[in-house]
Amino acid sequence: MEKMKIKFGYIACVGRPNVGKSTLINKLVGAKLSAVSPKPQTTRRSIIGIKTIKDEKEGKIIQIAFIDTPGIHKPRNELGAEMVKSAIESLKTSNIIYHLIDSSEGIQGEDIDVAENLKSFLKEEKIKIPVFCLLTKIDLVKKEILLPMMEEVGKWNLYAEIIPISALKGDGLDDLIETTERYLPQTDEVLFPYEMISGQPIRIIIQEIIMEKIYNYLHMEIPYSAAVEVEQIEERENGTLYIKATIYVERKNQKKIVIGKDG
Ligand code: GDP
Ligand code: MG
Repeated sequence: MEKMKIKFGYIACVGRPNVGKSTLINKLVGAKLSAVSPKPQTTRRSIIGIKTIKDEKEGKIIQIAFIDTPGIHKPRNELGAEMVKSAIESLKTSNIIYHLIDSSEGIQGEDIDVAENLKSFLKEEKIKIPVFCLLTKIDLVKKEILLPMMEEVGKWNLYAEIIPISALKGDGLDDLIETTERYLPQTDEVLFPYEMISGQPIRIIIQEIIMEKIYNYLHMEIPYSAAVEVEQIEERENGTLYIKATIYVERKNQKKIVIGKDG
C-alpha cells in the first residue's frame, strides 16, 4: 500500500468577540470543545479544537489544530505588553491565521484594529503567514452587501484568501477546508497519532481542561509554569472515564496549593 500523504498545521483564529470563532471551530471539529476561559493568559498556547480528516480513497490525512488568540481587537497602544507578547507567540506558531469578520454587522473599527495589529505583528516579527479573511454569518446578509465587503477587505493588502462562510448553515466550509489544505505543510506524521484513531484529540483536550481549571481557581498563586500530562485514559465498565494525569509545578510549595495540604 502506498504511504498516506499527511498535512498538518496550526491555525490561529482571531477576531473581535461574537464574530463566530467558537461556532466555526465547533462546527469544523464536530463537537463542542472550546474551553471558554475569561483569563487571556490561559490561552497562551491553548488548543481549542483539532480536526482530523482521514481520506482513505485519496490516501491522505489532514490534521488541523486550532489555537485561540484572544484580545487583539483593541488598538495597539491599548494592548498590554503581556497581551501583545502572547498574541505574537500564538501567531508565530501558526501556519495559517483566520481573521473572522461578522458580515452581518458590517466592518467595524475593531475589525480594522485586528487587521492592523496582525499586519504590524507579522512585520515586526518578520514572519510570513498567510492570513485568511473569513466573512462570517453570511446566512444573515444579502449578496449585494457581501460583495462590496469582500472588495473592501481586499484593499487592505493583508489577506491571502477571502472566504465567505456560514458556520451555522455550513455554507462555504468545504471551500474553506479545501483552501486551507493547500496552504498546509506536508509532514511525516500527524502530531496527535493517538487521537487520530478516534478523530478527536481527547488527551489534549483533557490536558487543556485541567490546565484551565488550575488557572481559573488558582490564578494568583500559580504562575504560567504549571503543566499537565495525561497518562492514562480508560473507559470503565460502568461507563465512567478514568483519567490519570500528572500536574507539574515549578516549586515545591506550589504542590500543596494545587492538591491541598497533605495531598
Ligand atoms: P465568538 O465570540 O467569536 O467565539 O463568537 P460565537 O461563536 O460565540 O458566536 C457569537 C454569536 O453569533 C452566537 O450567538 C452564534 O450563534 C452566532 N453565530 C455564529 N456563527 C453564525 C452563523 O454562521 N450564522 C448566524 N446566523 N449566527 C452565527
Ligand atoms: Mg468564543
